[in-house]
This record gives sequence, C-alpha cells and structure tokens, in this order.
Amino acid sequence: MSFIKLGLNSNILKAIEEQGYTKPTLIQEQAIPKILEKKDLLAAAQTGTGKTAAFTLPLLEFMSSKSHKKEQKAYIKALILVPTRELALQVFENIQSYSKYLHLKTAVIFGGVGINPQKASLRKGVDIVIATPGRLIDHMSQNTIDLSRVDFLVLDEADRMLDMGFIHDIKRVVSKVPSQRQTLLFSATFSDEIKKLSNSFLTNPQTVEV
Ligand code: AMP
Repeated sequence: MSFIKLGLNSNILKAIEEQGYTKPTLIQEQAIPKILEKKDLLAAAQTGTGKTAAFTLPLLEFMSSKSHKKEQKAYIKALILVPTRELALQVFENIQSYSKYLHLKTAVIFGGVGINPQKASLRKGVDIVIATPGRLIDHMSQNTIDLSRVDFLVLDEADRMLDMGFIHDIKRVVSKVPSQRQTLLFSATFSDEIKKLSNSFLTNPQTVEV
C-alpha cells in the first residue's frame, strides 16, 4: 500500500515524503479511505501508531480541494479536541509539516498561557483549530471563536479526555458545532463510556481497530 493509492493530492504527498514516511501505517491504511468517503469514524489506536496523520491527512485533502469555498478571510472548518497542551502542540506541529504546501492556517489553543495572542490569531481567521476543552470553552464564553461552520470534528484521545473529567465541556462544544458534520473519534480503548460518547456524537460510524 502506498500513500498515492490512498488518494491524497501531490502537495500532501510531497510534504509527507519530506517527513520520511514511505508507506502508510496500519491505522492510516484503514482509516484514511473511510474518512475520505465522508464516513464518521470510531477508531481504537494508541499513540505511536500514526493516528495523528490518519485523521489529519484526509482533512487536509478535503480542505485543500476546490469544493471547499475559498473566502477572503479563513473560517474554522476543522476542530480537533485533545486532552492536553502537549498533545495539542504535537498535533499542531504535525499539521504544520503536512500542510506546508497548502494554503491553510492553523491555530492551537490551550490553557496556562495568555489568551490574548490566541484571540488575535483567531480574529485573523484560521482554517483549523486544535484545542483543549477548558480554554476552548473560555473562548466560546467570550465570543472569540466562531464554530458555526465547522465541517470536521475530531475527538483525539477521547478516553483520556473522559478520564480528565472533560465530558461536560465536550458536550458543550459539540452542541455549538453544526450537526451536519463529519466526526472522528480516536481512543486507546473502546470502553462503555466511549461507546456512549460515540452513540451520541457519531452517525453510523465505521470502526477501525489496530
Ligand atoms: P502518532 O501515533 O500520531 O503520535 O505518531 C507517531 C510517530 O509516527 C510520529 O512521530 C509520526 O511522525 C510518525 N509517523 C506517522 N505516520 C508515519 C508513517 N506513515 N511512516 C513513518 N512514520 C510515521
């Protein structure tokens, strides 16, 4: 299996080749085609499996295609929720490198640092937001983020977000994104709580386990 066969465009292929990736990992091979078919996805994958590229590459493919409206100021099309600032930064760095030949702007939002620079970057307009739930709620309360046109919602390391007590925050966020969207849920395990979350947020999800 190669990345070309997965249906990613040449600007993405060039960037991942520069990362030194020669072929997709198992989770990428299984998840990317399903995401590109616009299916909701429930994926069990640990850190280290290549899960970040598994969800970001198809989203970059969608957002770089002509069917996505180009407007003067970018608006948030993809929202990626993660449990910690470390993971937020990691996902951000990955997206920066995978999207280096695309014209997309990405912002990363987490607590423990000043909120004003985040507000400024959101004001300028971004296509992708990676956020931890608490700080995202702060921006929502202050009306400094517009989630009304989100097409893609990713819950990364959902089991850790539940363990950290983010369930109410997550529900609040999901209630503010359009119900017409594609939702991807990644978790290390499929516990009953994760299944419940999946039942309430995903529509006829495809399942992938590695
Ligand atoms: P993740 O599971 O997303 O945390 O990724 C684990 C590590 O694997 C990261 O350092 C990625 O850069 C790397 N990686 C992701 N996909 C591939 C691939 N197809 N080939 C080689 N390395 C990869």
